Amino acid sequence: MIGGGVTGAGVARDLALRGLSVLLLEQHDWGGGTSGGSSWMIHGGPRYLEFDWETTRLSCQDAGHIVTIARHLVHRVVFLIPVLPDDKNGIERLETAMEVYDRFQPLKHAFPHVRLTAAEARAVEPGLSPDLVAAVSMEEWGVDPHRLVWANVLDAVEHGARALNHARVTSLLRDGNEVIGVRYARDGARVEARARVVVNAAGPWSPRVAAMAGQEIALRPAKGIHVVYDRRLSNFAVSAESIDGRDLLLVPHGGQTVLGTTDDDYFGDLDDVEVLADEVDYLVAGMARAFPAIEHLRPVRATTGVRPTLHGWRVTEDRLSRRYQVFDHPHAPGLLTITGGKLSMYRLMAEEAADAACRRLGVEARCRTAELPLPGADGEAPSAAELAREHRVPALAAARALKRHGTRASSVLAGPGHGRLACRCEHLAETELAHVARSEQVRTLADAFRRVGLAAGPCAGAACIDRAAQVMGRELGWSASQQRDAAREYLLGAWLGRAPLLERRGWAQEELAYAGRRGYSA
Ligand SMILES: Cc1cc2nc3c(=O)[nH]c(=O)nc-3n(C[C@H](O)[C@H](O)[C@H](O)COP(=O)(O)OP(=O)(O)OC[C@H]3O[C@@H](n4cnc5c(N)ncnc54)[C@H](O)[C@@H]3O)c2cc1C
Repeated sequence: MIGGGVTGAGVARDLALRGLSVLLLEQHDWGGGTSGGSSWMIHGGPRYLEFDWETTRLSCQDAGHIVTIARHLVHRVVFLIPVLPDDKNGIERLETAMEVYDRFQPLKHAFPHVRLTAAEARAVEPGLSPDLVAAVSMEEWGVDPHRLVWANVLDAVEHGARALNHARVTSLLRDGNEVIGVRYARDGARVEARARVVVNAAGPWSPRVAAMAGQEIALRPAKGIHVVYDRRLSNFAVSAESIDGRDLLLVPHGGQTVLGTTDDDYFGDLDDVEVLADEVDYLVAGMARAFPAIEHLRPVRATTGVRPTLHGWRVTEDRLSRRYQVFDHPHAPGLLTITGGKLSMYRLMAEEAADAACRRLGVEARCRTAELPLPGADGEAPSAAELAREHRVPALAAARALKRHGTRASSVLAGPGHGRLACRCEHLAETELAHVARSEQVRTLADAFRRVGLAAGPCAGAACIDRAAQVMGRELGWSASQQRDAAREYLLGAWLGRAPLLERRGWAQEELAYAGRRGYSA
């Protein structure tokens, strides 16, 4: 298996549950590609109803399975969709669309829409524009994709798979045209692994992997960015129209808010996707029409991702189908590719790819991923208050650990360092950080940011990164200088990631923080 995004992790889990021997390789970190750069939504996509009804149906249907097997990882997200003067949809048209979408909502265990007057909408969401005409509600699900990917990887491993992050496939092993394995690089070593089937689940990189066997896959990759704020800005999520008529989303997730997204053809380097200040301005200006305060709030970072959209001519990026495809590669037996699709139907994509792999291998075991819970979603979890008392951590730290580990949270919070916080902004317990370094393949501080939200809050690591490097270093055997290097590397990476968001005052603040740190570490 090549690619540790949600699709590859899903296929690895599926095949491992069917009893196959699986090796999953990820070049960076689990979920660090498109999956982590998504809008963090398990949604049906009411937008697609206009031009691709089947995608909405499949997304809703698979979302229903995903929220059941990953119940500790998901949360309900209630959107308000405001109608403003001159919007492309008036309230009657919008409500009609929502009536159609309501028919799909039961598939994903969500509730139907509610229509609100302007006064009602502003009473529950005072940040909405005073120009508001009316609004409707719409319910979707939110998820931390890094945790969803990891839960799939973990379950695959617990069912016998081997899974390695920071392991890049550099070429395919071939016998004539037949693909018989992979060559990968990890920790400076070059390793060969043979396989009867190689599944390419490398997302937007999948054409590059297919090309290693002389195969062509036509994608039309589309870049999207998000702007992230370090607190909840609104009571509800808000979906609003941008200057070009596209729908933008402002979504609270845990203690943060994500504003997105753009959708632009991308022809650049997939390993170096930049956020442009222009893109940030486009998002902020678009949302400000519905939610004016956004213009005065300071974001903490931006994220990027490149959609592995199947190729289509002539249509605009927004109108491209979100369908997926399993490519059989008849001229390169031994290779399969699964690409396209969405996070909200990753399980179904994985099932079809695993079915195809099993057909090749003559295996008849059936898919069980729709019914078996992911690790942490089985049985009854303790309450956050009980967990907080037991492990002497603040209730918020316990609640966050429950969200990430479900029924396994208590064993995660046990151990030396009991009761101390590694990251005060995000309420991350030291024991949880030590656990993920020990047991969740967290090898760098950036991996810990993805796996447990280390340094995701307002200080962006300024207050916690040195101590976090010590806690992780203890588990991973880092020397004192390796700990310092790890902290420096993390702060530099995070700082560069913030650059497109900084206006004059932001730059001055960054310079001050940087100078302060240099003085401190000199
Ligand atoms: C801005 C944006 C917002 C989105 N929002 C949503 C949303 O809210 N809901 C939704 O359902 N969908 C959303 N999507 C779509 C969704 O994120 C993707 O369809 C999905 O995450 C793709 O997952 P994947 O595993 O196929 O690809 P990826 O997550 O990119 O995984 C592929 C992996 O392969 C690895 N890889 C590549 N080459 C190699 C190699 N040679 N060796 C080893 N590993 C390799 C990469 O590092 C990467 O981690 C969004 C997409 C974008 C860009």
